[in-house]
Amino acid sequence: MELKDKLALVTGGGRGIGKAISSELARQGAKVFLAGTRLEVAEDTAKIIRDQGGDAHAIRMDVSNSEEIQEVFQTLSKEHKAVDILVNNAGITRDGLMMRMKEEDWDEVIRVNLKGTFLCGQLAMKQMIKQKSGSIVNISSVVGLSGNFGQANYTASKAGMIGLTKTMAREVAARGITVNAIAPGFIETEMTDKLDDQIKKDLLEKIPLTRFGTPEEVAYGVSFLVSERAKYITGQVININGGMLM
Ligand code: NAD
Repeated sequence: MELKDKLALVTGGGRGIGKAISSELARQGAKVFLAGTRLEVAEDTAKIIRDQGGDAHAIRMDVSNSEEIQEVFQTLSKEHKAVDILVNNAGITRDGLMMRMKEEDWDEVIRVNLKGTFLCGQLAMKQMIKQKSGSIVNISSVVGLSGNFGQANYTASKAGMIGLTKTMAREVAARGITVNAIAPGFIETEMTDKLDDQIKKDLLEKIPLTRFGTPEEVAYGVSFLVSERAKYITGQVININGGMLM
């Protein structure tokens, strides 16, 4: 129960990696708010966590809508407390070769993945600075480091999150706040389910540990980075990728 009395906000907490992160933080004793565009999905997950003895709540929040984000942060601090832990996990893909990529697909991915991280991070930092503590984890991706065929928008957003993480870390380090990124490799979730079997087979060949990762394996990294044990780690990118990129 290392995170007892901590309030955590996990964006896109309803399913996939966000669901595993929310469950793990709740298991460590945090009060967890699962924020997402689909309230019913977040509510189902929050209920599962509560049934397992955790303290979890669903909250509607589109990370690309700054007014909605402001409302959520205000409500949390008024009705509960300041955010101690922010996990910027919400993310989308709109894949296609750069030559044919539509401008709106570029904009949407950058807006959700990168600008969403900036907007939530900015509000969390304000609350954390007041209490002189807090930790932020941004979920980037291995392809933000390596680049990837057909993912100009997504890789740019994930690489951008890494630069943003390092700047955030520098700006708030003196206030006792840590900011890190996790770059997962190929993790089995609904996001990756939609890839075709040949792509999955090719990817598998590039993974030294010879299997895809699980959402829980990313969640363990997050729960470590937000714990007291990681207080001297900031501005880092932790690769959880089965050795896919070393
Ligand atoms: P997922 O599609 O299963 O889940 C993404 C979550 O984000 C969903 O709950 C969705 O509703 C939410 N979301 C989408 N747009 C949102 C918005 N505007 N506001 C709030 N919530 C929104 O994906 P996942 O595989 O669980 O991925 C989670 C994160 O991990 C993403 O940022 C993704 O880019 C990253 N990632 C995933 C993998 C992988 O292999 N699955 C690898 C590297 C990085």
